[in-house]
Amino acid sequence: SEQAIPLSQLIKNVHQCINAHAEEVAELDAAIGDGDHLNNLQRGLATLESMSAELDQMPLSDAFSKIGMSLMSTMGGASGSLFGSMFVTMGKTAKDQPLTLVGLSEVFSAGVESIKARGKADIGEKTMLDTLIPASQSLQQDAANGVPLETSLSHMQQSAITGMESTKDMLATKGRASFLGERARGHIDAGARTSQLMLCAIADEVI
Ligand code: ADP
Ligand code: MG
Ligand code: MG
Repeated sequence: SEQAIPLSQLIKNVHQCINAHAEEVAELDAAIGDGDHLNNLQRGLATLESMSAELDQMPLSDAFSKIGMSLMSTMGGASGSLFGSMFVTMGKTAKDQPLTLVGLSEVFSAGVESIKARGKADIGEKTMLDTLIPASQSLQQDAANGVPLETSLSHMQQSAITGMESTKDMLATKGRASFLGERARGHIDAGARTSQLMLCAIADEVI
C-alpha cells in the first residue's frame, strides 16, 4: 500500500458496494425516511464516476473540493448537502498535507465536524453521524498511538459497523425519522448504513 490508490478506483468500488446493497438501503429509508436515499446516493456516485478520470489528475485537496461541490449541486436530499459539505471541508483541510495516517485522520475528522455543524447533530441522534463519529475517533486514536495503517483501517471498519448497528434501537431526533417518535425504533438509519458500507469499501481497498 505504498502506492496511492486512484480516486477513480475507490469511487468505482464504493458505487459497486452500494449497488450490491441497493434493496436493503432502499428499504431502510422507506421504513423511517421518504425512500429516496438510495437514489440520491446513486445519483451522487454516478456524477463522481463521470468525472473520475479528471479527479485522478488533480491534487487530492482540489479533488475533494470538486467532489464536495459536485455532490452539493447534483446529489439532493439532506445527505447530499451533508456529504457535500464534508468533502468541501476535507478539501480545505487536506491542503499541503501528506496523507499519512495522522493526516488522513485529521482530514476525515474535519469533514465529520462539518457534518455535525451543518446538520446541527451529534452522536446518538440516529443519523450517519453514528457511523462517522466512531469511525473518525477510532482513526484518530490509532493515529495518536502509532498503530499501523492496515490495523487502523480494520479497527475503523469495526467501529463503523458497531456505530451503524447502534442506530437500530435509537429514537431519531434529527432528519425525517424524528417525526416518527417510537416508530423509528427497530430500524437502522439509512445514512448510517450507507456511510458504513462506503467506509468499509474504501478500507477494503487498502487492506
Ligand atoms: P432526505 O432525508 O432529505 O430524504 P436522504 O434520504 O438522502 O435525504 O438522507 C437521509 C439521511 O441523512 C438520514 O438517514 C440520516 O443519516 C442523514 N441525516 C438527515 N438529517 C441529518 C442531520 N441533521 N445530521 C446528520 N445526518 C442527517
Ligand atoms: Mg430520504
Ligand atoms: Mg428526500
